[in-house]
Amino acid sequence: MDSRRLEYLQAIGVDVWVSRHAPAVSPPESEGSSSPALPSPGREVEGGASLQPSARAREAACDSSRAEGRALQPARAREVPPGGRAEAAPAVSFPASDEPLAPEIQAQWDALKAEVLACKKCSLHGTRTQGVFGVGNRRADWLIIGEAPGAEEDRQGEPFVGRAGQLLNAMLKAIGLPRETVFIANVLKSRPPGNRDPKPEEVAACLPYLMRQIALLQPKLMLAVGRIAAQNLLATDVSLGRLRGQVHTFGELNTPLIVTYHPAYLLRTPADKRKAWEDLKFARSVFQRLASQES
Ligand code: URA
Repeated sequence: MDSRRLEYLQAIGVDVWVSRHAPAVSPPESEGSSSPALPSPGREVEGGASLQPSARAREAACDSSRAEGRALQPARAREVPPGGRAEAAPAVSFPASDEPLAPEIQAQWDALKAEVLACKKCSLHGTRTQGVFGVGNRRADWLIIGEAPGAEEDRQGEPFVGRAGQLLNAMLKAIGLPRETVFIANVLKSRPPGNRDPKPEEVAACLPYLMRQIALLQPKLMLAVGRIAAQNLLATDVSLGRLRGQVHTFGELNTPLIVTYHPAYLLRTPADKRKAWEDLKFARSVFQRLASQES
């Protein structure tokens, strides 16, 4: 496995067995601040070496924690289960097109963004710092959908910029999707105070904005991260665990929709990062199958 891929897997906390004869892993040169060391437990690798979490990784988990409970637990050291081996998926990248959008589509995006930033349809406008429209490539094939902005997102006006966002970036990068190649949005565009769950009336007010984003983007694949996003998009109260591992479809275009854990949950429950990695590989294989059918 190449060292870059191994580094990403380790960054998202997926244990990888490495032969004691394998060369030491050095961080990829281009990582810099765009792919920081991420919270992961101390890990043992075959051959007795132990990969320690970085100082940053040991910090308490983020304030942008949302979904699947709120209390953040420190990561616990764990062992690689006997025979537990994370398969490195083949390196594939899905660069989004950099062709400019048609001016009328660009104008519709800009108008929608202005509407969201000025929105007062629910009471959250009174407590938010600013609306968080969404970010990314407006021609992206992949749309990543979270729950709602957290404190950091509310401050910066961009989704997934806290520690959960850093983990999300690393997870996406691990499947060949740097953050700038996807579009990222939330069900809610305004932060609920104290990161509480969105209220039904807030979702009802805000969901039409997401629908319009989806209509403009026409993604080839949607990835719902966390229970709140998944249940609202699929209009169900089925548990996240039961929604994982299937290709759902969304909207009139029957866009494939795949469900995985919220990265804030994964920061609190690193043991489930392995399952999230399976979900991402599954999503990628679905996308690849679609792409091969199209060509
Ligand atoms: N959690 C979310 O669901 N969305 C964000 O933008 C940040 C944290």
